[in-house]
Formats: sequence, C-alpha cells, structure tokens
Amino acid sequence: MTTYKTVNPADGTTVKEFETLDAAGVERALADAHAGFQTWRKTSPKHRAEILHKVADLYTERSDELARAISLEMGKPLTESQGEVELSSNIYRYYADNGPALLEDEKLDVPGAEDTVLQRKPVGALVGVMPWNFPYYQVARFAGPNLMVGNTILLKHAPNCPQSALLMEEIFQQAGLPQDAYINIFATNDQIAEMIADPRVQGVSLTGSERAGTSVAETAGRNLKKVVLELGGSDVFIMLDSDDMDATVESATRARLSNAGQACNAAKRILVAEEFYDDFVTKLTASFEAVQTGDPLDANTTLGPLSSQTAADTLIEQIDDAVAKGATLLTGGKKIDGPGAFVQPTLLTDVTPDMRAYSEELFGPAAVIYKVESPQQAIELANSSAYGLSGSVWSADLDKARDVAEQLEVGMAFVNEHGTTLPGLPFGGVKRSGVGRELGPWGMDEFVNKKLVRVS
Ligand code: NAP
Repeated sequence: MTTYKTVNPADGTTVKEFETLDAAGVERALADAHAGFQTWRKTSPKHRAEILHKVADLYTERSDELARAISLEMGKPLTESQGEVELSSNIYRYYADNGPALLEDEKLDVPGAEDTVLQRKPVGALVGVMPWNFPYYQVARFAGPNLMVGNTILLKHAPNCPQSALLMEEIFQQAGLPQDAYINIFATNDQIAEMIADPRVQGVSLTGSERAGTSVAETAGRNLKKVVLELGGSDVFIMLDSDDMDATVESATRARLSNAGQACNAAKRILVAEEFYDDFVTKLTASFEAVQTGDPLDANTTLGPLSSQTAADTLIEQIDDAVAKGATLLTGGKKIDGPGAFVQPTLLTDVTPDMRAYSEELFGPAAVIYKVESPQQAIELANSSAYGLSGSVWSADLDKARDVAEQLEVGMAFVNEHGTTLPGLPFGGVKRSGVGRELGPWGMDEFVNKKLVRVS
C-alpha cells in the first residue's frame, strides 16, 4: 500500500502523512477530470495562456516557500531548489508565450481542394505519474504544454513529496485554473492502472524508472492509450582533450553531483582520453573530495542526502558489488555516519561488464571512469549502454567533438556542456530511456489530435 508522507531525508524524521484515495475518490477524480475537459477544451488559447502566465508569476513570487518544500521532502540543496523553481516558472511562461501561436491551424499546401489545414485539438484527461527527483520541474514539463493544449490532468506524484504536490495544485487554483483541470491524486499503482484503463482517460505520461515505465506502458498498451515515457539514463561525459582542465573538471563534478547525483541525465559514466587520464582523474578525485556535504537547508551545502535510506542502500550495494568483483575505489564508497541518507561522493575505475555498476543506472553521487584510447572507442563504449538519454563531448576541437556527438545513440547530445535544459529545447531519450519528447513545441505535440480538415 502506497503511503504518501514527508520524511526529512536529512535526519529521517517523519513530518506529515496523507490519506491515499479510496475507491470513491478514484471515481470522483475521473469524473471531475472528464467533466473538466468538456469546459477547458472550449476555452481560448489566449485565456489558457493568461492562466499559465499567472502560474509562472506565482512560482516566482512564492519561490522561497516552494524551494524549502522540496529541500525538506527530498533533500535538494536550497540553492538548487531555487533553480528548479525558476526553471519551472520559465517552462510555464514559455508555453504561455508560445502556446497560442503553436496552436494556430497549420495550412497544408496540398493541391486539389479549396482549403486544407491541420488543427491541433486536445484529446482529453491525461494521467501524469511523476518522480521525486525534480518535483516541480517534471510536472511543469507535462502540465505546461498539456494545459495549454486544452487537456486536463490527473497527477500522481511520488509518495515522498506530497506537500510539494499539493503546493502545485494550490498554485494552479490560485492562478485561476478550474479545479477540475488539474487534480492531484494520492493514488496507489493499482488505482493508476484502473485510471489508465478507464475510457475517460486518453493517455499517460510517466517520468521515472524503467520498471515503472514498462508497467505503466503495458497497461496503456492493453487499453490502446498513448504514452510518453521519460526513463532512466547512464549518460556519458566524454573528455577528449581540454585547454582548461580545471574548468572541465568542475563541469564534470557538477554534471555528476548536482541533485546528489539523482538526475536521469547526470554524467554517470566518465570516459577520458588516455593522454589526459591521469591529470583529469587526479583533479576530479580532489574535486569530489572537496564537495560540501550537509543539511540541504544550509546555503553552504552543495551535496545533500539522497532522497531516502532505501536509495542510499541501493547505491551502496551497487558500489560494494563492483568493489567485491575487482573495481578500484578512487574515493568515497560509504554512507556517511548519522541519521540522514548521505553517501560520500564516489569514483570507481576498473569496472567490467560482470559488475552491476557497468550496466545499471547509479542514481546517486557515484561515477564510473573509463580510460579510452580513441574517440571511436569512446563512441562504442557510450553506445554499449541499454540507455540512450543524453551525452556530452568535451574538446577544444569542435569538429572532432561534433563528430563524436553525432554518433552517440541518444536523444540529446552536447558539446562542451552537459545536460542543458531550457524550455525551448526538446528533452527525451531513445532505447530504454523512453518514448516521446517533452519541452519546446515537441512537448505540445504528444497528446494532441492532429486533425485534418479539408474543404473542397
Ligand atoms: P520510480 O520508482 O519509477 O517512480 C516514479 C513514479 O512512478 C512514482 O510516482 C512511482 O510511484 C510511480 N510508479 C512506479 N511504479 C508504478 C506502477 N507500476 N504504476 C504506476 N506508477 C508507478 O522512479 P524514482 O525512483 O522516483 O525516480 C528515479 C528514476 O526516474 C530514475 O530511473 C531516473 O533516471 C528517472 N528519471 C527520468 C527522467 C527523464 O526525463 N528521462 C527524469 C527524472 C527521473 P510509487 O513510488 O508509488 O510506486
């Protein structure tokens, strides 16, 4: 039974618990989201954009309160939480600014008729299933475009961030969104399956693990419902050469350790050209050891706890498995003593395919470093992963770096930056990292009826 509760991961205390929906609650949520769709779909794009502008403004006005809520619930350092609130605000603003134009009829230049257009119509109520690692941002990527389109939303958040989930619902209402256009649901996984199967729901978007994605997609497939899946990653940071090693090391540290390493697109595998290997690894080890671990609500903290003790235990098991099978621990590898779910920043080398750390996602502050003899070997190693979310290539030679970036089997490839996320850029992966795209115009095109109207 899913229990929605706030447990402070910095000290393990339970702060607040919430009731899970009962059967009547599930039916009420479905009926409301369906009824809400009948009116929301008829509102003008201009009106929807006005509401999303208010949402964006409210995220800015209430930034401190929102930031503290996620720092408390999932342990993100406060400065990073503020960054997430700002990014979420920018996503709502992006869809408010651009949505009406993106929804205009698209004239198709096909002869033989008086008029041929493609219209983008909303499809109905959608279920959103979201993870705890970026509680506001993940929801913004789904809710921003879909509310703009005219769809309504039933949102199931992760059980460890219920207060942040309720704050988001409150902000939508404060901005003037009808109550039945966005409904927070404290639902179990079985209830989610029931909702996906219900004819009043037209699709589901899930951000989370591969395990959750396959389960939700299976239910959706059986019921012929469209899915968007944003799943895990084991993204590469490929260091080919550098004319500023300190800056590259700092970028690698940030790419791996932001959000305590709990990002789908974090640099979990670091591939280093052999001629720079010793220098880079020495500096990266020093950089990991200099990280300031502590209370996420303290402004000096750069690395908070993991989201839960279970998350910390899983990461330690993956590290221990690698070390037991012969991997070398350059730094870290242990939990930090005390009540919180803290794990030391960790670097592993000599990782081989028989180890869990080779193929599994390491969802915490631990990276695996590989020495590569050539750009080609880096590409092969990068593409050997079952995941394909993003990757970055670092070099002073932009042509060389671009060539490597173009050969990565990923949804997002970067040169001399890692994991840049902006409202207007597409976000999503290939292979086991997911299906579909969020953000930009592409995020608005997933749950729409692209309707042909042809008049002869
Ligand atoms: P998770 O355990 O898969 O949970 C994500 C959400 O899915 C939670 O709300 C969870 O609820 C729900 N869920 C799990 N199984 C379900 C099922 N059978 N039916 C319905 N809902 C289900 O993932 P997490 O540990 O919170 O998040 C970390 C994962 O998300 C990592 O793999 C990370 O890479 C991935 N992620 C991907 C992206 C991306 O954009 N590609 C972004 C962020 C995170 P319950 O806990 O109640 O089961």
